[in-house]
Amino acid sequence: MGKRLRMEIRGAVQGVGFRPFVYRLATSLGLSGWVLNDIRGVFLEVEGDPEQLSAFRERVLSEAPARARIQGLNESWLDPIGYEGFQIRTSDAKGTKTVLILPDIATCQDCLTEILDPENRRYLYPFTNCTNCGPRFTIVRDLPYDRPNTTMRGFALCQECRAEYENPLDRRFHAQPTACPACGPQLAAWTRSGEVLARGDEALAVAADVLLRGDVLACKGLGGFHLMCDARNEAAVGRLRARKAREDKPFALMVRDLAAARSLAEISPAAAALLESAEAPIVLLPRLGEEAVARAVAPGRPELGLMLPATPLHHLLLRAASAPLVATSGNLSEEPICTDELEALSRLAGMVDVFLVHDRPIERHADDSVVRIAAGAPRVLRRARGYAPLPVPVAEELPVILAVGAHMKTAVALSVGRHVFLSQHIGDLETPEAMNAFRRVIADFLRLYEARPALIAHDLHPGYPSTLWAEEWAVEHGIPSLAVQHHHAHLVSCLAENGAPGPALGVTWDGTGYGTDGTVWGGEFLRGDAGGFTRFAHLRPFRLPGGEAAVREPRRAALAVLFEVFGGDALSREDLPPVRAFSPNERTLLAQMLETGLNAPLTTSAGRLFDAVAALLGLSQRTRYEGQAAMALEAAADPREDAAWPLPLVLREGAPALLDWEPLLRALLEDLKRGVNAGRLAARFHNSLVDGIARTAEAAGEAHVALTGGCFQNRLLLERAAERLSALGFTVLLHREVPPNDGGISLGQVLAGALYLKHLHRIG
Ligand code: ZN
Ligand code: ZN
Ligand code: FE
Repeated sequence: MGKRLRMEIRGAVQGVGFRPFVYRLATSLGLSGWVLNDIRGVFLEVEGDPEQLSAFRERVLSEAPARARIQGLNESWLDPIGYEGFQIRTSDAKGTKTVLILPDIATCQDCLTEILDPENRRYLYPFTNCTNCGPRFTIVRDLPYDRPNTTMRGFALCQECRAEYENPLDRRFHAQPTACPACGPQLAAWTRSGEVLARGDEALAVAADVLLRGDVLACKGLGGFHLMCDARNEAAVGRLRARKAREDKPFALMVRDLAAARSLAEISPAAAALLESAEAPIVLLPRLGEEAVARAVAPGRPELGLMLPATPLHHLLLRAASAPLVATSGNLSEEPICTDELEALSRLAGMVDVFLVHDRPIERHADDSVVRIAAGAPRVLRRARGYAPLPVPVAEELPVILAVGAHMKTAVALSVGRHVFLSQHIGDLETPEAMNAFRRVIADFLRLYEARPALIAHDLHPGYPSTLWAEEWAVEHGIPSLAVQHHHAHLVSCLAENGAPGPALGVTWDGTGYGTDGTVWGGEFLRGDAGGFTRFAHLRPFRLPGGEAAVREPRRAALAVLFEVFGGDALSREDLPPVRAFSPNERTLLAQMLETGLNAPLTTSAGRLFDAVAALLGLSQRTRYEGQAAMALEAAADPREDAAWPLPLVLREGAPALLDWEPLLRALLEDLKRGVNAGRLAARFHNSLVDGIARTAEAAGEAHVALTGGCFQNRLLLERAAERLSALGFTVLLHREVPPNDGGISLGQVLAGALYLKHLHRIG
């Protein structure tokens, strides 16, 4: 007597070939029944011999497609009802939308083999994909994930593609974006005024020529335009920098394969796996020599950001050009990436010589993700293509909460059930374009997940555009809003990613965040959990002349710490590089600001302490981008130096306690006078901070210590602090797929918001 097994599988199971997999498995075991996609996940019923059913049940879970993420399973055994054969049923659009949208997936090996095979009908076709690879998040318009709900809806399948699409044994069975040269999107090369230069394969050849003659190409990719040029050509890279108004910030490179990557950078096995992963992010890697690419690619940086092609178009372009290419977001510096070819004509025309475009619309933007390997694992620094919008799972069902992040590197977050969906990287909310992108991403998320927030969470800073927007939105929609302190959000974000309830000591170090006392925080030790925190300790505050203006001038931070310890006399110490970097008149003005405190706000910023030390070591007096001086300091540090200064940071008791860096500064100046080289001093500085962190953690006595905030993008600091704390017996919590910088803030805001709501309801 047969049985019937019903299974409901939730998670990222759409767009990964789950249904064909079920079909093949069921038919191979001689089972009948059906499988169905709906907006909540995959549903199936199989009936037949109980032994075969058990085998099916086991193998569905153990042999699921590699990209599937199963997050929930309901099953029941029922009486058979006499199904004949096995069917794949059409999607059902009812129910609540809890299915996960997959990120875009880099071209798989099977598809790559096809486009390089002259006998294959997809030979050189740049939009080839299958159920295991291709665009997802950037083409989905609605759920469920079916072709009519994607930007492929305008492309009617040809007979051959339809046959593949309908054949359960084909690897393109229900591959929603499948296409071929006969029926799919086409390439075109345009002049900068939008006239067609060439189409199809010829357009690709034109693009390769443009690159090889040293011009700049705008290439429409998966989640937006890249600006590209030949990375070996100094003039070309220089031209791109000038046109993009981006002076020093390193450019990422795209190379054709792992072998090409190995010729430019040191590639560990972990780095190779990451480069070739389905996420295909930009990986920051130690560069081999300075000469392999133009100096202007990453001036003075010991690392290169490398990525491999993520789409057939990029594979073909890299092969045609056969050179490493600069591949930077198609935008003016710090603006959101451009996604539409007509918009590109107006926004990018001044920057490029030729456009390489296609007619598959991009539904939403996604920049390239950036990942660095540190403390033995990949750490996402910019979370976008390949990662967004996969959710962070949480232990408890959450109310719907929208969180808008802070100001820099913004990403928003939305909780639905036991998932917190983290948006793709949006950017710094400094321009009208960025604010538009911010509003667009929020509207998009609310629509996709049909979410009606019960609360909106934002940063405590009263002046951030995201705060103002959130407060207005709350009033408009009649819901409460909640301000979450910046570093508290960092701590909770790290707890949430690690599935740790807290309490923990959060070492939350970054450049800037609005404190509960109205001063600028940034070197914080917060003890707490999602429900709240106490400020256990912080770095000794100092006055920063010029406030935010000082962010681009490490020399100001240096003068500020000198003044804090030695008073006005320090400003005449001509032996120190940051003092020399100012004229006597400027110094007088700065002294006045520091004495009166006028336009010189108090800060505990760890980021500014890095700046100050970088300036004192003569590494950096002015910077062109955020974090540049800290990166220079990290890069300068001699890895063989493991000494620290004795008692560099002193923990002064109090509530909060004060971690005083005065002894560190004095020791640094002593060593400088003695002529100890900058490499050793930079390392000693890092080691001393690690000492200070360890001592503070011991004083706090929390078993869990979270390392979070933008400063922990610094590999040396992260690795040495994590190692020391572990050795002392602490459980150390680190970020992995959620950035430690402000790109991870919204996750913490959501969880703080959830606890706040719970509390409100308890009272109400
Ligand atoms: Zn494929
Ligand atoms: Zn076709
Ligand atoms: Fe921050």
